[in-house]
Amino acid sequence: MHKDDLMTPRERANAFARGEEPDRMPIVLGYGAAAGDLLGLDYDDWREKPGLRAKVAVNAYNEFGYDGVSTTYDTDALVELFGGELCVNRRGPNAVQRPPVADLRDLGMLDLDLVCSDKDYTFQHTSEVFHRLKDALGDELPQIGFGIEAPLTLAARFAGTGYILKSILRRAELVRPLLEFFTALVIKVHSFFVSETASFTVFDAVSSGSLISPRIYQEFSLPYEKRIFDALKEKRSDVSIHLHICGNTQKILLPMVSTGADIISMDEAVKLETAKQLIGDKVILSGNVPTMAVILQGGPVDVDRSIRDCFAQAYDSPRGFSISAGCAIPPGTPIANMRQFMATARECARIHARGKNLSPASFFNA
Ligand SMILES: [Zn+2]
Repeated sequence: MHKDDLMTPRERANAFARGEEPDRMPIVLGYGAAAGDLLGLDYDDWREKPGLRAKVAVNAYNEFGYDGVSTTYDTDALVELFGGELCVNRRGPNAVQRPPVADLRDLGMLDLDLVCSDKDYTFQHTSEVFHRLKDALGDELPQIGFGIEAPLTLAARFAGTGYILKSILRRAELVRPLLEFFTALVIKVHSFFVSETASFTVFDAVSSGSLISPRIYQEFSLPYEKRIFDALKEKRSDVSIHLHICGNTQKILLPMVSTGADIISMDEAVKLETAKQLIGDKVILSGNVPTMAVILQGGPVDVDRSIRDCFAQAYDSPRGFSISAGCAIPPGTPIANMRQFMATARECARIHARGKNLSPASFFNA
């Protein structure tokens, strides 16, 4: 158990399930590629080394004690599996140098049988990391989470974002088979993990309101996400599905709920107060301390103020609220800001757990 807590995440989850008061509410943090900073490692040093990757995640959990630890199926290596080329980024996710799909009329290189086979190195090492995390932290955590990107974001990675978005506007019928392929791919990958975890996250950066319109979200993202979530729920009734879309998602919050997601996470372009009014009675909200402007570029004072402001806006959201960063924490984030994030988040999450007679001011007067 972390020295600053009174319960492990597992004990906390059990307290919730029994209707008892936990020591504090859960704290969620997408501390993935940045977690190597604590050990002086660049992402490229450990992304494809399962033992080191698990060590980085366990070390970050031991240091900070947030509630969710997960592993992500990086789709980088899939780009190469299907004949594309990557441009290696030492500190963060790799960029695609040459996408596998040059022409949407030819999807012959996309072979679903390769996915999760012994040729799919990403699957092999993700599975190993997942089991190492389960062995190391399974007693403390109720679940080891699993994350993957959504079909539209995968389609953009495999054919280029500009090409996909232009094609949606001009030749939509050419894009649908690619979205079908990635829907089947995500469902296939999930099927290997659903017996071992109930905690799933789907990231959909390309469905951002900054890139596509609400109409395009409803036609080219929502139906595919819903099919993926329905498939998970069919296999397991206790799944908890976390949907994260970057950028301004205010106009698609209601459609995001109709995917069947249980937790909607948003970045700072959406005000938590607005999200609470629009969808707070339907799903758990998660967000949204500004990742770049505050956590990366600000100082501890900014982090402290921003977390209190998030709680003040969303603590009374009817279905619940979990504090988190607006997006994944970038490599290079000052460790002092991370320590402040956890210190203030813990303090507010303890107040939040008391539940009674709270007001927005409760989170500022502690
Ligand atoms: Zn994001």
